[in-house]
Amino acid sequence: MSKDKILVTGGAGYIGSHACVALCEAGYQPVIFDNFSNSSPKVIDRVEQITKKGISLVEGDVLNFDQIMEVFRQHSIKGIMHFAGCKAVGESVQDPLSYYRINVTGSINVLDAMCHSGVDVLIFSSSATIFGDLNANPISESSTFSPKNPYGQTKRFVEEIMADLVASKANLNLATLRYFNPVGAHQTGLIGEDPKGIPQNLMPYLAQVAAGRLSKLEVFGHDYPTKDGTGIRDYIHVMDVADAHVAALEYLLSEGGYLAINIGTGQGISVLELIHAFERAAGRSIPWDFGPRRDGDVAEYYADPSLAEQKLGWRAKRGIDTICTDMWRWQINNPLGY
Ligand code: NAD
Ligand code: UDP
Repeated sequence: MSKDKILVTGGAGYIGSHACVALCEAGYQPVIFDNFSNSSPKVIDRVEQITKKGISLVEGDVLNFDQIMEVFRQHSIKGIMHFAGCKAVGESVQDPLSYYRINVTGSINVLDAMCHSGVDVLIFSSSATIFGDLNANPISESSTFSPKNPYGQTKRFVEEIMADLVASKANLNLATLRYFNPVGAHQTGLIGEDPKGIPQNLMPYLAQVAAGRLSKLEVFGHDYPTKDGTGIRDYIHVMDVADAHVAALEYLLSEGGYLAINIGTGQGISVLELIHAFERAAGRSIPWDFGPRRDGDVAEYYADPSLAEQKLGWRAKRGIDTICTDMWRWQINNPLGY
């Protein structure tokens, strides 16, 4: 089996750490580059426990071009998965310059260092947020870009920079993957999402209510034009997202080119359906109440995953019950996170 080294920026983070596990399982050697601004060094030990492999780590910042170049000097890198960045929508509205700096300038640095080092394969973490609030579900790759906040704008800009770069250099092979709602944890319960402070997203909030760390879930809105009046999203297991990265990597290594692909299950799940699935997984009832709609929320949003299947031979394998069971295992084994 191949032992090619893959640079994983942000590899200590939530999705990056799961991608490192998937890379090891597929026979690659991840080299993590992270400044731990939103993660813990303990993640490295946990990934090593799961994979039974030593994981290379370079501590550094994507805003520092020389530190990225140093990774290419130390390691013979075959491809890059670029996860490093900031992801809180609300924070991006409060502090747009930091988001443009870290997400856009950081990505330019990674792309520039890649070009200087002769590496020609990169996969970028984009988001369904780039599509904004569309009504036409499922959301396909041809949907219009319409990000509604600075975070979404940073993802759109990087996608456009990547497309321009590919057009300027025939030998580059790039993919941008737009994730819908990554949730859940590795089945061992050793790695998972570890939000700082009170979670802003439904799944980690729900898990902390189930564990008794938070008292009650507020369901934002009861009168959306959906099957039960609550918001609908496309929740996808984080290991399915990780597997999609390996599939994209193998596609780029063998076929090359430029890919822009939506990564979701294609299935919309309502807030109430998710609560009920979590109750089944945790074997306990979860206190919740209806509250007002959250500003800026859309009613319904799910992916058309057909291009991912057609191009990459990938589709999500894990359903909502597996997602909740794995999330619950991570929550009870790590009640306060890492
Ligand atoms: P995360 O915060 O858990 O992971 C990001 C990692 O990048 C962290 O380990 C952090 O320490 C590191 N990092 C941040 N700034 C850095 C810098 N300047 N230099 C080096 N390392 C830095 O986030 P995540 O949920 O794993 O998301 C990974 C990527 O996927 C992000 O680009 C995010 O925007 C994107 N994304 C996430 C979601 C989601 O719901 N989690 C959805 C769509 C897209
Ligand atoms: N949601 C909720 N209560 C919460 C957090 C979220 O009812 O405490 C709802 C939210 O209105 C949306 C869904 O859960 O319909 C998913 O929200 P999340 O923030 O996880 O994802 P996003 O809206 O960014 O896709």
